Amino acid sequence: MKAFRRFNVRVPLPSRLTDLAVLANNLRWVWHVPTQELFAAIDPERWASTGDPLRVLADVDQDRMDALAADEEFVTRVRDLAAELKDYLAAPQWFGRYAESTETVAPQGIAYFSMEFGITEVLPIYSGGLGILAGDHLKAASDLGLPLIGVGLFYRSGYFRQSLSHDGWQIERYPVNDPGALPLTLLTDDSGPVIIGIAMPGDRTLHAQVWVASVGRIPLLLLDSDIALNDEELRAVTDRLYGGDQDHRIKQEILLGIGGVRALRDYVRITGRAEPSVFHMNEGHAGFLGVERIRELVDGPAALDFDTAEAVVRASNVFTTHTPVPAGIDRFPTDLVRYYLDAGPDGSSRLLPGLHAGTVLELGDEADPGVFNMAHMGFRLGQRSNGVSRLHGEVSRQMFADLWPGFDADEVPIGSITNGVHGFTWVARPWRDLVGEDEDSAPAHYAELPDGELWRTRQTLRAGLVDEVRRRAHASGRDRGFIDAELGWTAEIFDPEALTIGFARRAATYKRLTLMLRDPDRLRRILTDAERPVQLVIAGKAHPADDGGKALIQQVVRFTDDPELRHKIVFLPDYDISMARHIYAGCDVWLNNPVRPMEACGTSGMKSALNGGLNLSILDGWWDEMADGENGWAIPSAEGVVDEHRRDDLEAEALYSLLEESVIPLFYTRTPDGVPQRWVQMVRHTLSRLGPKVLASRMVRDYTVELYCPAAAAFDAICADDYAQAGDLASYRALIAAAWSSVMIAGVEDEKADDGLLVTAHVALGDLDPDAVKVEVILGRVTDDGDIIDPVSARMAPADGTDASGRTVYAATIGPRSSGLLGYTVRVLPNHPALSDDAELGLVRYPEV
Ligand SMILES: *Cc1c(COP(=O)(O)O)cnc(C)c1O
Repeated sequence: MKAFRRFNVRVPLPSRLTDLAVLANNLRWVWHVPTQELFAAIDPERWASTGDPLRVLADVDQDRMDALAADEEFVTRVRDLAAELKDYLAAPQWFGRYAESTETVAPQGIAYFSMEFGITEVLPIYSGGLGILAGDHLKAASDLGLPLIGVGLFYRSGYFRQSLSHDGWQIERYPVNDPGALPLTLLTDDSGPVIIGIAMPGDRTLHAQVWVASVGRIPLLLLDSDIALNDEELRAVTDRLYGGDQDHRIKQEILLGIGGVRALRDYVRITGRAEPSVFHMNEGHAGFLGVERIRELVDGPAALDFDTAEAVVRASNVFTTHTPVPAGIDRFPTDLVRYYLDAGPDGSSRLLPGLHAGTVLELGDEADPGVFNMAHMGFRLGQRSNGVSRLHGEVSRQMFADLWPGFDADEVPIGSITNGVHGFTWVARPWRDLVGEDEDSAPAHYAELPDGELWRTRQTLRAGLVDEVRRRAHASGRDRGFIDAELGWTAEIFDPEALTIGFARRAATYKRLTLMLRDPDRLRRILTDAERPVQLVIAGKAHPADDGGKALIQQVVRFTDDPELRHKIVFLPDYDISMARHIYAGCDVWLNNPVRPMEACGTSGMKSALNGGLNLSILDGWWDEMADGENGWAIPSAEGVVDEHRRDDLEAEALYSLLEESVIPLFYTRTPDGVPQRWVQMVRHTLSRLGPKVLASRMVRDYTVELYCPAAAAFDAICADDYAQAGDLASYRALIAAAWSSVMIAGVEDEKADDGLLVTAHVALGDLDPDAVKVEVILGRVTDDGDIIDPVSARMAPADGTDASGRTVYAATIGPRSSGLLGYTVRVLPNHPALSDDAELGLVRYPEV
C-alpha cells in the first residue's frame, strides 16, 4: 500500500548539540571535510548511503542522540566546528582586500541569476554543466568574500533520475523534493512568508514563495510556485527543470527574471543588506531581469523614461552566454512573449506596468521576425558580456556579430572569461591529505611530492573508482531486471591496476558519445589487450525528449552488455554530482571528443585535471587554450571536412591512434619498482601547473576584476546626480540615431609627414557637434582580399570651423609599425563617456568605396 501522506518525526537536538543544526543547514559542509566527518561519525551507514547531514539527523534515534550528548569529545567537536563556521562566515577575504586596494569602484552587492544551481546532490535543482558551474561560482564567491546573492528556482522534482530498461533504453523518474527535509528556510517578514506576485494574462497572478539556502556566505534565493494561492497550472511552473513545452518554459523564465528581482528586493529589505549594483545573467534564461529592472525605474519613485532607465540597467548588467550550439539558444515565438506581456489597449504591458509591450519585444529581435531571442535581449540589456573560454569568446563574436553591424567579428564587444571549478568540492580527499587545504600553496607541494607518493595516490583513487563501478553496475543490473544470480560478474569487473578512461557528459549530439564506437573491433582490441589492458567508464543523460540521444545511450549499453567486454567497459546510469566525484578522481584519462567548436568550455576535464587525470580531448573549449603538450593529448580535429561522417571517421581514427601509440604505451612503461615515470611527470605537471588555472577562485576573481567592478563603477557614474549621465546618454542615443543617416566621410587625403602619414578626412556630421563622434584612422598590413590586419589606430582631431562644403575636417598623423603592403581607412564612431566600447551602439561609418 502507498502512504496517503508523509511526515517527519525528528528527535529534538539536545541543547548541547544544537549547533549540529547550524552545521547541517549551511551548505558549507559540502566543501568542508571535517564537518562531513562529523556527520559521518553520527551514523556511518546513513552517511554513506545519503551523504546528507539533515537525513542523518532526521533518522538518528533517541538513544544514539543521548549518547552523543554525553560524549564530551563529540560535544567539543561540534562546538569547534560551529566556531570554525562562524569564523569562515565573518573572516576578511580577498574581495575586501581587493575592494580597498583598487582604484576602481567595487560593488556593494552582486546578484547572480541562473536557471539551475548544482551545489550538492542533496539539493537536486540542477541538470548538468551550467548548474554545476553556477554552484561552483557561489562557492568560490563565498570563499573569496564577494557580497553576492544567488537567485534561482526551487523545482519540486528537479531534473530526472536516470535508469535503464532491460534492453538499455533510458528510463526517467522524477522523485519529489520535500523542502522541509532540505537545508532551506522560507523567507518571511513580520507578516509571515513573503509572497511574490506576477501578473498573468486573464487577470490571474502567479504567486511564489521564496526559499533561502545558505551556501557558505552566499544566500541563494529559490522561488517556488507550488503553493495553494496558485491554480493547478501555475503551481506547476516550478515542477521540473527543462521539462515542459515553450509555454511552461517562458513562465519559468518570467518567474526567474521578474519574480527573482522582486524576491531579491524583499530579501534586501528584510535583511538590511546592501542593494546589489551589479546583476549577472548566467545565460539567456535570466534575461527578463533586465526588463523588470527597467520597469522598477520607470514605474517606481525614480519615474525615469524608458531610455534613461535602460541606460542605467545596461550599465550594471553582465551577460554570460554559454553555448555556440544554435539549438541551445533560448528562443520563443514572439506571439508567446506578446501574450505574456499582456498589453492593454494603449499597448502598455500588464506584466511590466509602465512599459510598452512593443518596446520590450524589440529587445529580443533577431533575423527571424517571428522569434524572440533571449540571448539577444541579454546582449542588448548587458553592457558587459562574455563567452566562457577564449575560443568560445571568438565563436560568440562571430555568431552574434549581426547585433553590431559594420564591425569586424574581432571588434564585437563580447569578451571571455574561462570557466573554472571549485577545488574544495572537486579535489579528492587523498590529495588534500597530502598538500593541505591552501589553494595558493598546493602547486608548490605537488611539485615536490616524490614520484612514488603521487603514483600511490593515483592508484588509491583508481581503486576507489573500481569499487564504485562494481557497486553501481550491480545496482544498475538490478534496476534492469536481472536477478542477483545473473549479476555475480559485476563484483569482479574492472581491474584496479588497469589504465582507466572516463567519458561522462550529456548525450547531446555534438558531444559524440558514440565516436569511440566508430570502429567497434578496434575498440574491442584496445580493451581486451592482455598485456596492456584498458577499461572505460561511460555515463550521461539524454534529455527526456531526445530519442536520438537515448538511442546513442542504448548503442553504448548494448556494446557494454557483450559478455566478452563487460569486464572492461561499463555504462553507469544516473550521472550526477555524487557519481561525478568518483569518476573524476579515479580515471587516469579524461576523454572528450566534441565537434569543435561546439563545446563552449567544458568543465569535467578540469575536475579530472585537479585530481591528476590527463585530458585526451579535441582542442575545444577550455582545452584549446590550456593544452600544453605536457598535461594530456590533443585529438586532431578535422574541422574543415564538411561531410560529418568522414569527419567522424578521421577524428575517431586519430583518437584510436593516440591511444595505441601514445597513451597506452606511456602508462605501461614502468620503472623497476612499477612506477610509470613519464606518466607521473605529466600528472605532476597537470596538478601543479594546470590546476591553478582551472579553479573557480580564478574565474570569480576574473569576473570581479574584469566585469563586476567596471559594471559597479559604471552604475555609480550613471546614477549620480539623479541619473544625470543616464539621461544624457539616452538623449545622446536619440540624437545620434536621428543624425546617423547624414553622417558621411566625404573625402580623405594623405601626405607623407616626418613621423608617418598625415591623414585628413572631411566628415559631414548632420546636426552633430564635432565632439559627438570619434573619428579615427586605422592602419595595418593588407591581405589579398583588401582586409586590414594587425591594425594600429589614431584618434583624429577636428579642426576649427568647416571646409567650403560645411564639413568638419579631422586629421591625425599615424606611423606604420611594420613594413610590406600597408593600407589605411578612416571611420566615424559614436563618442560618449558612458559607452564602454566603440562598437557598443553598432554604429560606424566608413568612406564610400
Ligand atoms: C562537471 C559536470 C558536468 C559538466 O561537464 P562538461 O564537461 O561540461 O560536460 C556535468 N555533469 C556533472 C555531474 C558534472 O559534475
